[in-house]
Amino acid sequence: HLGNETIKAELGRASWKLLHTILARYPEKPTSEEREALSAYIYLFSRVYPCGECAAHFQKLLKQFPPQTSSRVAASQWGCHVHNQVNARLGKDIFDCNDIAEKYKCGCEDGEEPAAD
Ligand code: FAD
Repeated sequence: HLGNETIKAELGRASWKLLHTILARYPEKPTSEEREALSAYIYLFSRVYPCGECAAHFQKLLKQFPPQTSSRVAASQWGCHVHNQVNARLGKDIFDCNDIAEKYKCGCEDGEEPAAD
C-alpha cells in the first residue's frame, strides 16, 4: 500500500532525525545519570515506536548492538551504525559516519552554526 509506505517513511525520517540530533548534542562527558537516561530513552523508544515491524527489528538490533552511552562520540557513532544496519536491511545506501556531528544540529546552543539543510 503506497500511502502507508509513504507515511511509514516520513515517520522514520522524523524519528531518525530526532534520535541523531539527541545523540549529537549528548554530553561529551556524561554523568552516570545522563548515561542511564539515554539508555532508558533508547530502550523505551524501541518499545513504543508505532511501526510494529520496525520496533521488533530495532529491539533485535539493540540486543546485538547495545546503546553506547560513554560519550557523545560513542553515542553518535553507535546511532549512525544502527541506522546503517536498518539501511542495509532495507537495501538503502550506507551513510558515512565521519561527518555525523556536522549534520545534526539542534539550533539551540550559542555559537552553533545553522544546519545546511
Ligand atoms: P532515512 O533512513 O529515514 O534517513 C533520513 C536521512 O538520514 C537520510 O536522508 C540521510 O541524510 C540520513 N542518514 C541515513 N543514514 C544515516 C545514518 N546511518 N546515520 C545518520 N544519518 C543517516 N522502515 C521499514 O520499511 N521497515 C523497517 O523495519 C524499519 N525499521 C525502522 C526502525 C527504526 C528505529 C526507525 C527510526 C525507522 C525504521 N524504518 C523502517 C524507516 C526507515 O528506516 C526509513 O526512515 C524510511 O524508509 C525513510 O527512508 P529514507 O531513505 O528517507 O532515509
